[in-house]
Amino acid sequence: LIYLDHQATTPPDEAVLAAMNEANTRLFANPASPHAAGLRVFSEVERVRDLIARFLDVRKTEIYFTSGATEANNLAIKGIAAEHPGGHVLTSAVEHKSVLDTCRSLEQAGHPLTVLPVDEQGRVRPEDVAAHLRPDTILVSIMLANNEIGTIQPIREIAQITREASVPLHCDATQGMGYLPTRAPDLGVDLLTFSGHKIYGPKGVGVLFAANDLTDRSPLRRLLHGGAQERGLRAGTLNTPAILGLGAAVGLLDHRAASQLTNLRARLLNELAGGGARFECNSGTDAGFLPHAVNLSFTGVDAQQLLLDLTDVAVSSGSACNSSSQEPSHVLRAIGLSDERIKSSIRLSIGRSTTEADIVQAAASLTAAVARCRR
Ligand code: PLP
Repeated sequence: LIYLDHQATTPPDEAVLAAMNEANTRLFANPASPHAAGLRVFSEVERVRDLIARFLDVRKTEIYFTSGATEANNLAIKGIAAEHPGGHVLTSAVEHKSVLDTCRSLEQAGHPLTVLPVDEQGRVRPEDVAAHLRPDTILVSIMLANNEIGTIQPIREIAQITREASVPLHCDATQGMGYLPTRAPDLGVDLLTFSGHKIYGPKGVGVLFAANDLTDRSPLRRLLHGGAQERGLRAGTLNTPAILGLGAAVGLLDHRAASQLTNLRARLLNELAGGGARFECNSGTDAGFLPHAVNLSFTGVDAQQLLLDLTDVAVSSGSACNSSSQEPSHVLRAIGLSDERIKSSIRLSIGRSTTEADIVQAAASLTAAVARCRR
């Protein structure tokens, strides 16, 4: 099977598996236990916290471990909102559901919500952010890069606007980690979240960065009640195998390796075009988009049927989290695509171990499957 669904999840790296195995066998003690075994694990967790803090160019005390990006997004958004009842929240129409639905749940609870539209490439216009900020705005949440079409958002420009207005900015960086620069001070964000399993790390672990400048002024409200872990913000025994695995994954990230992926993606599109599989590209392939991913529509083909027909290549229709629901993608809708084009869309995302031979074979299989579906 040729795996071209790295935006859904990535295979854990060997180094990640080794770190997790070590944590499950030798370093199994509770990091909150004050005996030598616990202290040893505690120091490993703190080493990873430090590594992630350095990677994001922030302080160690600003890093919180969670069960994934979904929880980290919920914690960032609800954590701020709970301390500012009735405050206005601003987000975009192309956010991941863990942001969009969290914001919608706040709206139900009395927080006015603005969901900004995007342009036909899926980009938020910074001037729209400026125009929709209100005196009662308590949070702006805009992702770094989109999980369905790969659009990179102008976070730095948006951050300039939110900084001037003294409104906290949250950025879901889940899809950008390892592909784009993610130093929080450079981006200008106050809150940043990401997930382990999109970066060749384990599932079930994520990170919230929350700037001390922000939390000193107004602490985030915890979601879970229980122990005092994570400086009181996130109760529950730490998932140490996943955290140590995450440390190994972050240690291997290098966004400068992106050009290799860009070349493979170009090859894939060339092979598909050369093979005669007519398609329309729903995402851009220039510097404004993730280097490893592309979203395509094959007119007249039902994507669900195509996925079933395509037995030797793993791709996805829409985002993995939504593909069980038959709802058309809210992201493709937001960029103005017809239902017809949305229904015929698939997402392909290349990974670290993808080879040229994989690309050539995947393109041939896809071309044949498209032809069968069209018949
Ligand atoms: N945010 C984005 C942009 C994503 O792509 C995903 C993954 O599907 C998530 C959040 C959720 O991450 P997790 O699976 O760690 O909860």
